[in-house]
Parts: sequence; structure tokens; C-alpha cells
Amino acid sequence: MNEQIQDQIMAAIEAAKTIIISRHKRPDGDAVGSTLGLFRILKASFPEKRVFLDNEDYAEYTAFLGDEGPHPALEDYPDALVIVIDTGTLERISNPRVTIAKTLIKIDHHIDNHPFGDLSWVEEERSSACEMIVSFFMRYEDRLKMTKEAAEALYAGMVTDSGRFRYRGTNSDTMTAAARLLKEDIDMERLYANLYMDDFRIVLFNARLTEKIQRSDHGVAWLWVSKELRETEGLSLEEASNVVSLMDSIRGSLIWLAFIENDDDSIRVRLRSRFVEVEALAGRYHGGGHACASGATVYSRKEAMALLNDADQLLADFRKEHPEYL
Ligand code: AMP
Repeated sequence: MNEQIQDQIMAAIEAAKTIIISRHKRPDGDAVGSTLGLFRILKASFPEKRVFLDNEDYAEYTAFLGDEGPHPALEDYPDALVIVIDTGTLERISNPRVTIAKTLIKIDHHIDNHPFGDLSWVEEERSSACEMIVSFFMRYEDRLKMTKEAAEALYAGMVTDSGRFRYRGTNSDTMTAAARLLKEDIDMERLYANLYMDDFRIVLFNARLTEKIQRSDHGVAWLWVSKELRETEGLSLEEASNVVSLMDSIRGSLIWLAFIENDDDSIRVRLRSRFVEVEALAGRYHGGGHACASGATVYSRKEAMALLNDADQLLADFRKEHPEYL
């Protein structure tokens, strides 16, 4: 089934004269890496085609991966093949123009609650969308060209979305794809330095914030980052959002949540877990994502506390069934 869809996607790519690639809003390493990686593979493989990336936002911390090239014109869309990667729903695409494309393809690894596209290749158990792009490349390696720059972008996405090859979903296919990329002589030291070094002010902020971590009755760890705190600390939304990772190693806290106040009155919630699945919980609060890494949005402190309560209950129920998990 998936092989057939991949064959259809490859045929659509080979037939198209103009290809436009998009990703989700507020992109992470996987969204940037998968789109930039495919963009570079297609440009190297088909110099005669017009290939573009088109998105309305980008991420500061992956800017080191390099230039995303010029945007297409609006008139390019009606004849174009648009490939959207790493994005579960139409609303989350960082490009509203995708709906006027001649053909729309979805390639994704999020839980597929909102299918879209003329062709859709979704594998929810994949550790990253980048892994899917690499395995697609490997399937058609006789017709496609990898470059060092494409490999670097794809590797960055694989590393970040799998938590450096730690999270659920990391398996032998992941390692086979990573091994293929390493043949391109990626500068690993530079890559990791760019992805994982923090400015000293962030290290100090994290130290202060660690002391503010709270735990619910059954052990859900949580942090609240107010708009005011962001402003006094001089933090961008992206920097503030990273506090979620401060809570990922607390024994007994199998679910952890970061609440980040946006500039409007909404509150971004980042949900993370091990063993317990939080995607359905996120789904009840205008969100979704993966089993153990989801995002949601709430619109008041009261709604945020309701989500926290639900998470606490979820963890309590899980603990009854599985007291052995740390
Ligand atoms: P985040 O905490 O924003 O990094 O999100 C974790 C995962 O959930 C990422 O793979 C996101 O793409 C996904 N996600 C975040 N927000 C939503 C949403 N509103 N709907 C569906 N998926 C989401």
C-alpha cells in the first residue's frame, strides 16, 4: 500500500514541471529538515524543473542549515505539484496557497485525524518525516541525487525529532536511513553545536526556571511561562517554548507540560510523555500530534488548569495499570 503510494508520488514528481514544498507553521527541526532536504534532492536530481520552498515562517535555530531560495509566484500554483511534509492538518500548513495547486500531496508521520491531499502517504510510527524522505530517496536512489547539504538538513531533522535517536519510533529503519545520510560526509560536530548549544543567558534562565517546576498530585510536571516573564527575560516565543525539555528526566513524572502565554490571549501547551499517550488529551484542547509529543492551545488559565487536571487523571489511571513504569 505504502509502496504503491510512493510510486505514485515519484511519478507525480517526475511528471511535474513546477514543484512547491511546504511544512507546518512554527516549524521545528523535522519540518525544516524534511522540506529543505527534499527541496535540495529534487533540485539536484531535476535541474530542468522549477522547485521551490514556500512557507510563511521559519525557525531561527535551524537557520544555519542554509538558504531556502526564492518563493514562487501566486500564478505558479494552478499548474504546480505541492508537497506538504510533516503537517497533520490543512490549517497547520504554513502556506494557505496550497489549496489552489493542481495536485496536493501529503507526506507525514503525525496521527492522521484530518487527511488531505490528492495523494497521502502517512506512516504514524516513523520517528520523523525526515526518515520518510530518506527512505523515499533510498527507494528511488537510481533516479534521485543526494547532496551533502540535503543530507545535513535531513540528518538535523532526524536527530531533533527522535530526541537524538531516543524516542519511541526509533528502530532499524531509522538507523538505516541515518547511516545512508552519513555517507555524505556530514559535519557532525558543526551540526550538533548548532542544534544543542545555548546562549549563557538561556542556561541561567533554565536554572532559575527549573526551580519553578511544579508537580500535580499524581506527578505531572508542569511549568508556566507568562508573557511578562518572557518580556523581562528578553525571550522569544521559540526560546520560551524550549522549557518543556527541562522536565523530561524526572522520575515518576511520565507526563510533563509547558504552558507558554502567546502575544494574544491564547496559551500554547506543549505536552510530552513517556509510556503514556497524550495525543488524545491534546485533541480535546484544540491540538494533536504524536502519541508522546503533542501540542495544544488553550484560551484561559481556567482551561489550562482543566487540561492539567485531565493529564493528572490520565497519569493516575495509567499508574494503576502500570505501576512498574518510572
Ligand atoms: P510542539 O509541542 O508544538 O512541538 O508539538 C509537538 C508535536 O505535536 C509536533 O509534532 C507538532 O507538529 C504537533 N502539534 C502541535 N500542535 C498541534 C496541533 N494543534 N494539531 C496537531 N498537531 C500538533
